[in-house]
Amino acid sequence: MIRATLESISQNLTAVRVRIRVAAEQAGRDPASVRLLAVSKACPAAAIIKAYAAGQLEFGENYLQEALPKMQILGHHPGLAWHFIGTLQGNKTRAVAEHFTWVHTVDRERIAQRLSTQRPAALPPLNICIEVRFGSEPAKSGVMPEQVPALAEYISALPRLHLRGLMCIPPPAEDVAMQRRAFRGLWEIFDVLNRQGHGLDTLSMGMSGDFEAAILEGATLVRLGSAIFGARPSNHS
Ligand SMILES: *Cc1c(COP(=O)(O)O)cnc(C)c1O
Repeated sequence: MIRATLESISQNLTAVRVRIRVAAEQAGRDPASVRLLAVSKACPAAAIIKAYAAGQLEFGENYLQEALPKMQILGHHPGLAWHFIGTLQGNKTRAVAEHFTWVHTVDRERIAQRLSTQRPAALPPLNICIEVRFGSEPAKSGVMPEQVPALAEYISALPRLHLRGLMCIPPPAEDVAMQRRAFRGLWEIFDVLNRQGHGLDTLSMGMSGDFEAAILEGATLVRLGSAIFGARPSNHS
């Protein structure tokens, strides 16, 4: 498959918004309670501009070196919000804290502490989701479910971070029941934290292949790349 043509991006966005609405209604939820994050990794700035023209304001990027030049090109477009959704190494935290409004992939204290220290004073606190890993998942990132409460306490005490919620990337599953099981697990941790008074409002879960299952299990933010921009080159996961 090739990447979507620029012309198809606004059509894809429209189609995806319809699917989000249908899934939300199926779940008995207000469609406005599900935000769409357009994942623009491996997309040129021109593709982001097309999506922006079609009303999309929130974009997700995985690689700092790729994101910064695009952010510069897009700099004068008002209302844009950039979410960092890639693996975060210690030597990248400063640039992330300076240029993004959200980070979805915090999985350890050290990274959280650096982001808080490095968040510029002139900017509002950085919005944070804790990335949670499930079971035998091969992914190297994410904190184990039992460690989430302690990390949430730690982040909540940092002055320049605003803990907003949880994020996960479950292993791909064809079967909707299996997809839902993983998302349900994240919702349960979210629910426990909120009962403890954390006031979280963001469950970042669901990608192009499984976002409807995620919405059925309470996702408030779905991260869609290929459904909007077309399939990525195979070296770009
Ligand atoms: C690439 C990526 C996505 C989007 O994936 P698609 O399957 O193209 O929708 C979402 N979340 C994260 C963390 C990603 O790395």
